[in-house]
Amino acid sequence: MEKYELTDIDRKLIAIALECLNQNFDDHVYNHTVGCAILCKNGNIYKGVNCDGIHGSCAEFITMGIAISAGEREFDTIVAVHDKHLNNVIPPCGNCRQMLYEYCPDIKVIVNDENGNLIKVTARELLPFAYIPVIC
Ligand SMILES: [Zn+2]
Repeated sequence: MEKYELTDIDRKLIAIALECLNQNFDDHVYNHTVGCAILCKNGNIYKGVNCDGIHGSCAEFITMGIAISAGEREFDTIVAVHDKHLNNVIPPCGNCRQMLYEYCPDIKVIVNDENGNLIKVTARELLPFAYIPVIC
């Protein structure tokens, strides 16, 4: 697995995601408990929080939708955060790994490695033997 070291912009991405979460954290019914930020290839950054519900959406889905709605199509790095997780970073769930793989398999995802250090790996590396939709 190829691992990438974090850059200053990656640390900024984490800070932006945490700021978004802190500004929107819902401590009444806990509907918004994860923040996310995505860096596009052109340098633009978008942020979002999860939306809970019967079929709630993870922060990665919400943030990707916000970026796409703004016209973005090429993505560089994504991170999801929660202030009580190691290094404030949460790895994407299986559903998000599939979404990231389908939208941009080479996007870098900030995660903790087995030693508790922040690294980046591609969505492709996070989902070996991925399901690949067949377009008819
Ligand atoms: Zn998810």
